[in-house]
Amino acid sequence: MTATMNGNRDSALLALWEHGQVLSAIDRALILCAWARPELDREQLSRLPLGAVNAALLQLRGAWFGSEIDLELACGHCGESLETRMATGDLLADARSDDSPATVEVQGFVFRLPDSLDLAAVTHEPDIDVAAHQLLQRCCTGRPEHTGIALHALLTEAGTRLESADPLADLRLDVACHACGHHTPAALDPGSVLWADVQQQARLLLEQVHTLARAYGWTEGEVLSLGEARRAAYLDLATA
Ligand SMILES: [Zn+2]
Repeated sequence: MTATMNGNRDSALLALWEHGQVLSAIDRALILCAWARPELDREQLSRLPLGAVNAALLQLRGAWFGSEIDLELACGHCGESLETRMATGDLLADARSDDSPATVEVQGFVFRLPDSLDLAAVTHEPDIDVAAHQLLQRCCTGRPEHTGIALHALLTEAGTRLESADPLADLRLDVACHACGHHTPAALDPGSVLWADVQQQARLLLEQVHTLARAYGWTEGEVLSLGEARRAAYLDLATA
């Protein structure tokens, strides 16, 4: 959001940042997603498959803050600090071509792709297996009439099938340690990545408003309505 940003976008970003403060991570991802998919209303956004939400967030991240995402983590074996860089375009290569509802069938059971409402419903469950089972139950849209198979027995198979049907729903990677060779699993959450960028950009804008308001007595609106070049020039003058 640097070079192409104008005053209106800056004001909108600050409004987005302020609104997002009080939301859960899932709702925050949805208000960001609304920017990328303005044609969808709130209900439609919350019903998008999770991979479609993540795809929209990655596209927005690329457009606003650049396509490279750096991830830092510690090696799970030796604790070495590791950095890895990904390109949003590479991650988007696995995206589904549209966000039409899809289903997978496992031993006669039919499951739809999980969406943000499903995720929100299980997010407070501390036991990951219980959460996965609840998610599967929510997404089960059809069962065979006569079966001795319990839903729980399908957890692994259905999970794998749903993941391959919506590859961007859960972005996981494997980072090799340059010191010991151990591979550490890492998760990439596009909503968190984008929100961290929004927070950083909001902080920068508030600092600019603060500096110019103090120097010239301008209001926030007046500072934000300055074009980027003029704002930068006044900041130079004010801090010279
Ligand atoms: Zn290591």
